[in-house]
Amino acid sequence: MNKSYNEKTAIITGGSRGLGAAIVEEFAKHNYNVVINYNNSKTKANKLKNEIEEKYPVKAIIIKADVSNEEEVIKMMEETVKTFGRIDVLVNNAGICNDSLLEDKTPDMFRTILDTNLVGPFITMKHIGTYMYNEGEGSIVNISSTNGIDTYYPESMDYDASKAGLISLNHNFAKQFAPLVRVNCVAPGWIKTDMSSGLNEEQLEQAYNNILLGRFAEPSEIAESVYFAATASYLNNSVIEVDGGSTE
Ligand code: NAP
Repeated sequence: MNKSYNEKTAIITGGSRGLGAAIVEEFAKHNYNVVINYNNSKTKANKLKNEIEEKYPVKAIIIKADVSNEEEVIKMMEETVKTFGRIDVLVNNAGICNDSLLEDKTPDMFRTILDTNLVGPFITMKHIGTYMYNEGEGSIVNISSTNGIDTYYPESMDYDASKAGLISLNHNFAKQFAPLVRVNCVAPGWIKTDMSSGLNEEQLEQAYNNILLGRFAEPSEIAESVYFAATASYLNNSVIEVDGGSTE
């Protein structure tokens, strides 16, 4: 089937705010219908849906699903297919962190981070990736982090491990779904979102000094790379670091 451009559909997990909202807008800008997945931020998801539909000639729907809950992910997939008849792109953006001192970290907290950041993408790729594979084409982008590659912070050892694990998962799913579904990873450095808003002046200055561009990314700047990774036809099984030139 020759798919017409403006019929394409992208699911963005954690799409109501932060980087996810910028990714939603980037795909809408390129004429994709978008699924704005949220877990808690329903009001923000609704507001974004209205803004997107006002600004671009596309349809946006919001779907509540905790990515670590298999049943909810399957329902999200089914609702997407029912509404749009297809899924072209999945962006695994949903993520959490819980920076804390080692003495305050517990195995349960560690598992909670892994559940959302690693088991979540496993579930979404298992089901939505398999759907795409059976349809004969598709593209997946996983949002990891430079913390999962070479920028380690003991306070976020749980988060860093989850993001390293996601890169491993990316490689295995790329193999699993080859040659029909491309699976790539974008590993951002610091981004201006709620997740990075807790840094104090000293930490900010130190972070800026380690970035050649001397500043954090706007969410839209990372979203551009995510769109590129999703649509570049010969890009597969790659990990793209988008960190402004980290010198750490
Ligand atoms: P954020 O502002 O804290 O937003 C996190 C998003 O994840 C929210 O939309 C949230 O949805 C969603 N989410 C969390 N748990 C979820 C779950 N169980 N199911 C579904 N959605 C869930 O974070 P951000 O900075 O935009 O981060 C987006 C991604 O970029 C994450 O994977 C993060 O690790 C990665 N990243 C961020 C930075 C940075 O400096 N900010 C750097 C590198 C990588 P609700 O509000 O609806 O719960």
